[in-house]
Amino acid sequence: MKALVHAIVFTIDDNDTIIPDGTVLVDGDRIAAVGSYDSIPIPRGSQIVDCTGHVLMPGLIDTHNHSSLIRGVDENLDLVDWLPVYDLEHRTCTPSDARQAYRLGYLECLLNGTTTVQDMHRHMDQAAQVAGEMGLRVFLAPYAADVPPYDFFETSESNEQLIRDWHGAFNGRVQIEAGIEDVFYSSERMYARALDMHERYGVRIHTHGPEHPEEEETSRKRFGMSIIELLHHRGFLGDYLSLGHCVPISRSDMDLIAESGASICHCPISAAKLGCGTAPVRDMMEAGVNVSLGSDGPIDNNSMDLFQEMKFASLMQKVRYMDAKAFDAKTMLRMATINGARTLGMEHTIGSIEAGKKADLITINLNHPSLRPICWNKKDDTNLIWALVFAMQGNFVDTVMVDGQVLVQDGHLLTADEDDILQNAQRQGEDWMRRRDAAMSQLLEPIRD
Ligand SMILES: [Zn+2]
Repeated sequence: MKALVHAIVFTIDDNDTIIPDGTVLVDGDRIAAVGSYDSIPIPRGSQIVDCTGHVLMPGLIDTHNHSSLIRGVDENLDLVDWLPVYDLEHRTCTPSDARQAYRLGYLECLLNGTTTVQDMHRHMDQAAQVAGEMGLRVFLAPYAADVPPYDFFETSESNEQLIRDWHGAFNGRVQIEAGIEDVFYSSERMYARALDMHERYGVRIHTHGPEHPEEEETSRKRFGMSIIELLHHRGFLGDYLSLGHCVPISRSDMDLIAESGASICHCPISAAKLGCGTAPVRDMMEAGVNVSLGSDGPIDNNSMDLFQEMKFASLMQKVRYMDAKAFDAKTMLRMATINGARTLGMEHTIGSIEAGKKADLITINLNHPSLRPICWNKKDDTNLIWALVFAMQGNFVDTVMVDGQVLVQDGHLLTADEDDILQNAQRQGEDWMRRRDAAMSQLLEPIRD
């Protein structure tokens, strides 16, 4: 048993309880108890960890990510013009490229306090192995596409093999999903195969919703309906589904999503960067949709720091609705934790600090000028709640625990060699870039009707 004592505990439970001097007991991979220091007896023989001067909160959940070694090279492009360049990355991606991308990306996520990642990429047996060994919790959705000329991604067959080989591995930390690129890259048959995998193996499904208004226009011309209507028409919407992005969606699209119980993974930095716009998140939530956060990965973010994502998401919504009260710190913390858990069907297992849940926890060192001074008041309990969203940086994270195992201590990874990860990523990234640039002659036309 581990006893984490004297922490300022942000539980993110139903009441957003904050405990100024709290204890969290961890037994194996689970939280055994949480409460004030005075109220929780510490069992004899416990390993006591003094968390004085630290916040203890649930690990953050990145619900839409694409691992990559390519970052900051395809800039200043609108989504529709950017996608063909991005396709080249996948055309030339080898298992070694993918492996080093997962090692680098999962290191970055963990150091920034992210304990669960929903990742969509290629050669995901490598992701399962890397995450398994590093200790991260992952939901892996292969990029499956079969519509020519996009039939160089993953296939339904490789997706099914991945499920058979890895679903539930590493104490359940590695979960495989049925992954689908989008309605332009993947055929109706591929959607049916994904549903079939969901039914036969009980896996969840992850795909892209509409991202750029131009995609919506193309969908209406090509299919005679919006992308969400098409997914509904294909019987694809359900509580097992999470949709990346969903920037240009109508109120009736939101109602379809809400009725089905599907979730939306909101990626505000990527949406801004690729010229997609600002998603109407308040309308989504009012319609009853669960909305979580995603970084969308290094290639179109360019970092994976959900603390930055929370701040940016809140500010963009305040701008969109011209309302300073919109998307306060509590809402943002919930989007990055418990809403993320709900997106993955894990709200009873992760996403908050409550007895019986998995011990996916982080601590934050409060000895940073941007987090001080700390004060307590009647209105918000503490100003720290605002600091965590509007002043915090991922690199203030001190300790990261997943499944009760300490993976990061004093801001450094314990489960793999950081230098080795960085050096390999550098070497492999340069090589991948060379091969990608050589394939430039195969650049496809952007999808436009
Ligand atoms: Zn995406």
